[in-house]
Amino acid sequence: MSSASRKCSAIKADGARCERIVAGQKEYCFSHDEARSEERAAIAAKGGRSRLGGDLSSIKKDLRQLADDVLEGKVNTAKGSVAAQIFGVLIRANQVELKAKEVEELERRIEQLEQRASAVSGGGRRVW
Ligand SMILES: [Zn+2]
Repeated sequence: MSSASRKCSAIKADGARCERIVAGQKEYCFSHDEARSEERAAIAAKGGRSRLGGDLSSIKKDLRQLADDVLEGKVNTAKGSVAAQIFGVLIRANQVELKAKEVEELERRIEQLEQRASAVSGGGRRVW
């Protein structure tokens, strides 16, 4: 048995061992290594959920200031344009975060409504 022909240590979805030959000292073949890194990323994203920035109004304020500065000639148009692009990315990132938060909030409300609904159907009286 030579170490040059090691097989991937991953177990596939059907329970069989992955048959791919792994190069060098690696434990997994490319696709299984990749799958594991995705898994790790997903776990990290779940655990390290950052607090929402939610600073759209401050971004808007900065943008307005930037527009004024460009119009007044304090900032040249090239710099102003780059800054505006960066603000655009910030705003988009903000929207994505807000959307995710909205979905979470809706899920929580639906859960509460379901709980109330089952409580109400038992007693026959509306609680709200
Ligand atoms: Zn594999």
